[in-house]
Amino acid sequence: MKFSQLFMPTLREDPAEAEVVSHKLMVRAGLIRKLASGIYSWLPVGLRSLRKVENIIRDEMNRAGAQEILMPAVQPGDIWKESGRWTAYGKELLRFKDRHDHEYCLGPTHEEVVTDIMRREIRSYRDLPVNLYQIQQKFRDEIRPRFGVMRGREFGMKDAYSFDKDDPGAETSYRAMFQAYINIFKRCGLRFTPVEADSGSIGGSFSHEFMVLAETGEDAIVHCASCGYAANTEKAPFVCSAQTQAQDLDAPPYSKVLTPGMHTVEKATKFLNIEAREMLKTMIYKTDNGPVAVLILGDREVNAIKLKKVVGGESDPELAPPSMVQEVTGVPLGFIGPVGLNMPMLADIGVRALGRVATGGNEPEYHIINVVPGRDFSVTEYHDLSAARPGDLCPQCQGTLTIARGIEVGHVFKLGDKYSKAMGATFLNAEGKKDPIIMGCYGIGIGRTVAASIEQNHDESGIIWPMPLAPFEVTVLPLQAQDPEIMAAAEKLYQDLLGLGVEALLDDRDERAGIKFKDADLVGIPFRVSVSRKSLAAGQVEFKERRSSEVRMIPLAEAAQTLLGWRNDQLAQAKA
Ligand code: ATP
Ligand code: MG
Repeated sequence: MKFSQLFMPTLREDPAEAEVVSHKLMVRAGLIRKLASGIYSWLPVGLRSLRKVENIIRDEMNRAGAQEILMPAVQPGDIWKESGRWTAYGKELLRFKDRHDHEYCLGPTHEEVVTDIMRREIRSYRDLPVNLYQIQQKFRDEIRPRFGVMRGREFGMKDAYSFDKDDPGAETSYRAMFQAYINIFKRCGLRFTPVEADSGSIGGSFSHEFMVLAETGEDAIVHCASCGYAANTEKAPFVCSAQTQAQDLDAPPYSKVLTPGMHTVEKATKFLNIEAREMLKTMIYKTDNGPVAVLILGDREVNAIKLKKVVGGESDPELAPPSMVQEVTGVPLGFIGPVGLNMPMLADIGVRALGRVATGGNEPEYHIINVVPGRDFSVTEYHDLSAARPGDLCPQCQGTLTIARGIEVGHVFKLGDKYSKAMGATFLNAEGKKDPIIMGCYGIGIGRTVAASIEQNHDESGIIWPMPLAPFEVTVLPLQAQDPEIMAAAEKLYQDLLGLGVEALLDDRDERAGIKFKDADLVGIPFRVSVSRKSLAAGQVEFKERRSSEVRMIPLAEAAQTLLGWRNDQLAQAKA
């Protein structure tokens, strides 16, 4: 491609609404343009990178034995009613009616459609396993679209679905996809980690998210440097050394302390001159099964997803508003405690470690000290209820956990018979009996993967593409474009590169060298080759990698072959 013909509208300034660097750079380098909130067009340069991600995905999915299909974006409401998600999916599902008043939606995902295909076609266990995937636009009416294409409302996704006759088969399919995902994200040049994720009501470790590590990530993950364990904060189990409740039986009887206005853990512990972890917080939660009190050490936070698993119900448990707290306990927020509290009391297992605590006094403006769990109040049940924190013990090796932030680029999930049962997708097993098909689903956000790569690979001048995702691999810059000799040499090198299958961009514009360098840096092309009077006089060209500041001279006659070799090395490295 020649720069003079390229449609790449660049901007000098960051767009006002962009919060993260990938969004800023994608707009500034002319990769994307916004049409409406969360809805973007991909311009030529951006699309080249997007297609590269798609092609890597295709390659690895095909290698893993999956077959590509293409399902419609428009889906009838009927199949969503069959699966029960027409109501369960909520407002993220964009619904509409056709002229006959029939209900439809724009697919946010395709479990229903693919299950409908398979229930009509699969007869016997001999027809299984099958794995089908597609690369297609999804629509989700996200409550807060942001970060450009990272959380869009319309976005490209690779979604795959596996169909097996039994659990061991489904496990094999899951592992194959897990490995394919590792290959895909490695080939994209990303630094990532698969983490155990919460799998909602299904339970067990049936789900992994693939997280690209980046400060701007929306997800918090814990990581163990010693053994490599990684999990979502709501998934990582808390490791408490105490197996039973410690009780400090030397403690004197508990006593009231007047603590006027000390309604936060921070204020009260300062006032009482104790550590936050020596204070027991009593939090009142609103759940589908009524209000519950959750007891937790003052330095930890309740995780709503862990709590939901214990209390059950459809909606996420929520902290009760002050009015409700007052109504249920008779005490204002900030002074509730377990002593004399008459309601179900769930304690985080971390509470077991402390034999003596301070708590709210169950009376306005009072706390009580020297409270001994088990002696002065009874816990209804102990559960793992707190989110993991840096410094916690690793559940796998007892090492120390650290917190990192991540961008979820992929998700692998065992579905079991959830959809096949609801929609009647069965097959005849070897004994001639009907069984539901066992399913798995596997998603990758294509645009989000491109953006995540930029989050990890950039500097103050622009994008630094890893070779496998680069829109162009080499840019050739004739520095004095009016000089026919220089132009001719640059043009020849450009043609030679194209002939060798190297994706080259010739900056044939009549612009100053500084402007050419600036644009090459902004767009982030991995290899830059400059042809100048000086270099030409020596029969050389100047080579620089976007990633480094080092400049090297290479002989012009061998330049195309040399660049081909280096390009191939980088592609091979990503694959290894
Ligand atoms: P998130 O928690 O970020 O909303 P999700 O769990 O809803 O993601 P999945 O349903 O597992 O996502 O979708 C598969 C993949 O699609 C995700 O791993 C992500 O890469 C991508 N994805 C999901 N929502 C969006 C979005 N709004 N914009 C761009 N990509 C998305
Ligand atoms: Mg989502």
